[in-house]
Amino acid sequence: MSDLEAFRRDIRAWLEANCPAEMRQPVRDDADAFWGGRRATFKNEAQRLWFERCMEKGYTVPDWPVAYGGAGMSAAEAKIWREEMARINARPPLSSFGIWMLGPALLKFGTEEQKVHYLGQIARGEIRWCQGYSEPGSGSDLVSLQTFGEDHGNYWLVNGQKIWTSYADKADWIFCLVRTDRTNKYQGISFLLFDMESEGVSTKPIRLISGASPFCETFFDNVKVPKDQIVGELNRGWDVAKYLLGHEREMISGMGGGGGEATIGAAMARAGALDPLLRADLALFDVDALAFMAMSEKFLDEVKVGKGHPAQPNMMKYAGTELNKRRHELVMAAGGSRSLEWDSEETRGGATARGWLRTKANSIEGGTSEIMLNVIAKRILDLPGA
Ligand SMILES: Cc1cc2nc3c(=O)[nH]c(=O)nc-3n(C[C@H](O)[C@H](O)[C@H](O)COP(=O)(O)OP(=O)(O)OC[C@H]3O[C@@H](n4cnc5c(N)ncnc54)[C@H](O)[C@@H]3O)c2cc1C
Repeated sequence: MSDLEAFRRDIRAWLEANCPAEMRQPVRDDADAFWGGRRATFKNEAQRLWFERCMEKGYTVPDWPVAYGGAGMSAAEAKIWREEMARINARPPLSSFGIWMLGPALLKFGTEEQKVHYLGQIARGEIRWCQGYSEPGSGSDLVSLQTFGEDHGNYWLVNGQKIWTSYADKADWIFCLVRTDRTNKYQGISFLLFDMESEGVSTKPIRLISGASPFCETFFDNVKVPKDQIVGELNRGWDVAKYLLGHEREMISGMGGGGGEATIGAAMARAGALDPLLRADLALFDVDALAFMAMSEKFLDEVKVGKGHPAQPNMMKYAGTELNKRRHELVMAAGGSRSLEWDSEETRGGATARGWLRTKANSIEGGTSEIMLNVIAKRILDLPGA
């Protein structure tokens, strides 16, 4: 038996013994995911057990080094971990912007001290992070951001406003783009980390079309940020920001793989007899979904061996989010007028309709589809600019 086969056997046995049955169900709502943080609460005992067992083994971040709270898995081992998790439909033990976004940026740009400190906290689910990039007027044109950090010797005094900050009201810390030089557009931004409990930070939730309030306006009024809370070099935060965006887009593209209530199989089962045109749409969708999953797998394999095109996450994000929007359109169509129900217990508070409306944001969050297509045109297809 090869080393990898033995590894798979061990992982499979560990998962069988340690993943509670309740954690082998699709994630249906936000409470089904454990986000960690200072104010974290577990939905039930199974969620707590699953998180703690994984955390003790470094399995919340399996491919991070052991010194930073991970399990030190190689690329091939991490792939086996993902496959074995998928085989039993295991939920991720910890959902976290720290894992998906900040962590990879720290691994590349952080100092050793920052890695040990912040990555360890992320792996143990101690600190919940939010992302302070977008501002009113600076979304797609992010580099025009105006939040300013004035140099005060051993700290920056930060003033400004962010918007669409997901879970800002629940997060403990923020990774934030702050202008530190007004004379240089691209090389005048720094990547700062600070505590959301710092004096001068306030948040105001924004309500979405789906009825939920997953994001906020975030205000900084004379917030003091110590100088050692910068990632990367002063005024070179744009490099960190772009690298992080690649990981964010890769993460968002994952929704193309579907799962849970959004699978087409579930829609078909609910709908019973379907009209032939809808059946054809569903079949076409399934083919595209399978092609997307194959592309994702290939992409991840290439990234892990350092051969991925740097602009590829944009392609993945575009394909995955457009696919997810189509999936939810089909789920709605297959469910007929009942899908529009909004309040009843039977529909779990209109989960289908609310989920469908939420997908409208998929092709906006993390960079819009139009921007993804611009990047693909320029950097992958090498087409001339307008
Ligand atoms: C659910 C959700 C969660 C989010 N979470 C966060 C978060 O946690 N942190 C954070 O910082 N931000 C977050 N965002 C903000 C997100 O990154 C921005 O909404 C996004 O980058 C678009 O910026 P904008 O909203 O300012 O739109 P704009 O940039 O004003 O774009 C408006 C329209 O113009 C189009 N457009 C703009 N420029 C071009 C161009 N050059 N070519 C072609 N078309 C163009 C866009 O595609 C879009 O259709 C979130 C957004 C959503 C929807």
